[in-house]
Amino acid sequence: MRLAMLGPPGAGKGTQARMLAQEFGIPQISTGDLLREAARRHSATGLEAKRYMERGLLVPDELVLKIVTERMKEDDAAKGFILDGFPRTQTQAQALDEILSSKNQKLRRVMVLEVSDEVIIKRICGRRVCKNCGAMYHVIFDPPRNADLCNQCNGELYQREDDNEDTVRMRLEQYALDIKPLLQYYEKKGILARIDASGPIADVQRLVMTAVEGEVKSA
Ligand code: ADP
Ligand code: AMP
Repeated sequence: MRLAMLGPPGAGKGTQARMLAQEFGIPQISTGDLLREAARRHSATGLEAKRYMERGLLVPDELVLKIVTERMKEDDAAKGFILDGFPRTQTQAQALDEILSSKNQKLRRVMVLEVSDEVIIKRICGRRVCKNCGAMYHVIFDPPRNADLCNQCNGELYQREDDNEDTVRMRLEQYALDIKPLLQYYEKKGILARIDASGPIADVQRLVMTAVEGEVKSA
């Protein structure tokens, strides 16, 4: 099963993609995580990507495509994956279709999480991420049992450098520029599901599962 999760920064893509990954036993492929990991390793790609990420701008398509194509070739992705934060431009969407169709594969469902800017700012400013396993928390909406420590692995929690109000506003502007043509692209293919992501995590999870299962039954 090949799925993609779209939506503004902080909408809950990673939270929901992680849940789907556990449910279906396929990996979550987050381009944001891949780029941050490349930057941490100081690879040439990572260092170049960092210049865009810290300003809240999109990383050039070519770099993102390189990194995500490599990841999709790994063994654990053979049976499927959940793309998280990718594609973000029409060029990326078309390139993804080409990669998949060369293997006789296609995306089964593209979900877009919809939520207001006001809620996004609250979600992003309270986000904490585990340095060790990548699990996500929120200081108010999904707090860890022990402040600053991951429930799952006891790893240290940190706040992302780009999770501040100024960068978030930039990221939201960037999102607004790119999302319309992307949604039209998937709407035309008949695989887009719009999800109201304004409710609590468990409510959004139910809507996401319904969207995925609806597609599975009719496929
Ligand atoms: P994205 O991957 O879209 O950037 P995340 O999944 O990292 O978003 O979620 C952003 C923050 O909001 C995290 O701190 C997460 O715990 C929290 N969060 C995610 N979904 C919800 C929700 N439905 N209600 C409240 N908080 C949420
Ligand atoms: P995210 O972790 O999804 O919030 O992404 C963090 C940052 O990584 C974004 O603000 C972009 O700079 C970059 N990024 C992640 N995914 C993509 C993508 N598909 N295309 C371009 N830039 C991306």
